[in-house]
Amino acid sequence: MSAPPLISLQGIRKRYGGGHGTPPVEVLRGISLDIHAGEFVAIVGASGSGKSTLMNMLGCLDRPSEGVYSFAGEDVATLDADQLAWLRREAFGFVFQGYHLIATESARENVELPAVYAGMAPAQRAERAQALLRRLGMDSRMEHRPNQLSGGQQQRVSIARALMNGGRILLADEPTGALDSTSGAEVMALLHELADAGHTIILITHDRNVAAQARRVIEVRDGQVVSDSAHASRTASGHGLPPPDMRQVVRQNGHGGGASFWTDIREAARAAWRVMWVNRFRTGLTLLGIVIGVASVIVMLAIGMGARQKVVAQLGAFGFNLMYMSSIGNSSRLPGRSITLADLEAVAELPNISHVLPNVTGNQVVRFRNRDVQTYVRGSGAALPRIQTWPLARGGFFTEQDDRELANVAVLGHKLAQELMPDVADPIGQIILIGNLPLQVVGVMSEKGALTGDRDEDNVLLLPFSTAGLKVFGQREPTYTVIAVDDVSRVAQTQAAMEALMLERHGLRDFDVGNAAASIAAEAKTSDTMTLMLSLIAAVSLVVGGIGVMNVMLMTVRERTREIGIRMATGARQRDILRQFMTEAVLVSLTGGLIGVVAGLALGAALLWWDVALIFSLRAIGGAFACALITGLVFGYMPARTASRLDPVQALASE
Ligand code: ADP
Ligand code: MG
Repeated sequence: MSAPPLISLQGIRKRYGGGHGTPPVEVLRGISLDIHAGEFVAIVGASGSGKSTLMNMLGCLDRPSEGVYSFAGEDVATLDADQLAWLRREAFGFVFQGYHLIATESARENVELPAVYAGMAPAQRAERAQALLRRLGMDSRMEHRPNQLSGGQQQRVSIARALMNGGRILLADEPTGALDSTSGAEVMALLHELADAGHTIILITHDRNVAAQARRVIEVRDGQVVSDSAHASRTASGHGLPPPDMRQVVRQNGHGGGASFWTDIREAARAAWRVMWVNRFRTGLTLLGIVIGVASVIVMLAIGMGARQKVVAQLGAFGFNLMYMSSIGNSSRLPGRSITLADLEAVAELPNISHVLPNVTGNQVVRFRNRDVQTYVRGSGAALPRIQTWPLARGGFFTEQDDRELANVAVLGHKLAQELMPDVADPIGQIILIGNLPLQVVGVMSEKGALTGDRDEDNVLLLPFSTAGLKVFGQREPTYTVIAVDDVSRVAQTQAAMEALMLERHGLRDFDVGNAAASIAAEAKTSDTMTLMLSLIAAVSLVVGGIGVMNVMLMTVRERTREIGIRMATGARQRDILRQFMTEAVLVSLTGGLIGVVAGLALGAALLWWDVALIFSLRAIGGAFACALITGLVFGYMPARTASRLDPVQALASE
């Protein structure tokens, strides 16, 4: 004999237990036998004699406690878990006692399973599975679930699955045990056919009549071989299918087949989606946790940002981002008018200053037709509505060009418009007089007193700075200046810098600067607290959602332990199992995240409709979604790893 036997066992022993004070049970007690390619062997023995244990050993699902198992001349003990998975996939096909089909998958998908792990392309895989099922007379049952099939049909599905990757060696554990005599006979006929085609068949049975149909019968009792008709069958063998190329096993670390990473992911996602759908109520509850988490983060942040902006707008109206600078009357130059436009140009160059708005003011009588009203005239810059967050109610504001050209234009305060033109429908375009100076009304301001509480702020006439200075008050220097800063939190430094500059230019402190720094500090604190609170909410909902995912994944792994065993027996490596359960966890959180985003936006829209100030930010939405995804990855990992580390034999034995 040149080639080594396909399977060679030498002194194989298997012990269970032994820990925690219980004596170890020796189930296999020194089994030695050789099986050659193409043999049809029956292993027969009473129940409890160790047959299934032996089969698990032969199929590389379990490792012996003692002894040497050589497969095609290679010592199996040297192979790691993934290499054993490769060997199972390439060499063995299992037909289990209880069929062991995956309940959520159709007959065809169950048959395809080993090819999935072998990396066969989906189309090719489906074709082969259909061909196998057709050959076994299952044409009309391909898309049925296992619970829609009879025992005989399920057994045929499991035989088709065993043949999917070639099934060089079929390990059949009591394949007729649960079948009526007709179905049993059909299955036996099938095994004979396969044996004739060169498959090595190892049939395990307690029934001597069944065993007698094989070409070689090995009898075991109490974990030992008591008889073996080896020599009778030796002549029958000789043209069996060759074993897989064992040189590949050492090299294998990816797939042997042609499937890409994405095909694998797609396959895992498909299976995951199926499981989610089958357990849709439970999945829905888990989703709900994530949906609420994501939606609340989105809405909370939108409310927070909306509120913050409202606060900022109000602060703008109160002038908390503004400084006021005016002359004090002890200047050696012009009493009360020491600050010049040249000073202001220098101030405008300082960092953190966004606008410098000179103002010239005084009380004047304004005339419209035959009505006179005493009002506060303020000459200012074109940027005033923006800087003071004081929008117009009608018309427009005067422009910088108006200011340069000393245009005779004016904007009425809300109260002035009411008092001066009570029965004029549209004040825009009307001509008013200050003394002999005619001014055309171009706009009316909105009511500022509504926000600040001071109604006299609306009894005002706004003119371009130069028009007011030169044509009304006869002066070039501003009465006071409004200075707006970019960054409210740095207003103190900016004020100091401005004072230093002015002192340098004037040589004495003939000016006064005011701001509302205290209030600004309070505002900053409020917004910080708000941010902190919202982050806390986000963190809590994240953890709650994550615990939900972990809980459901742990349940899933426990419920589907046997499925994991089946997958491992059909060639899934640890990383395949890990990927499958990670995919499920991620799919749950992705779906939850998506629904959460939609729900958050819908809720926000509803709130907007109720006039709640909301600002949605793409960053908050993206962040919430990313958090959901990360939650799935983090909290799904532990259960998925637990699943991938299961021992195939123990997993298969679980209920
Ligand atoms: P058979 O398939 O021939 O009926 P098994 O191989 O299933 O027998 O089991 C043989 C013996 O080994 C039985 O007595 C059984 O109780 C014992 N056994 C099997 N698996 C385990 C295990 N994981 N732990 C302890 N004892 C076991
Ligand atoms: Mg058994």
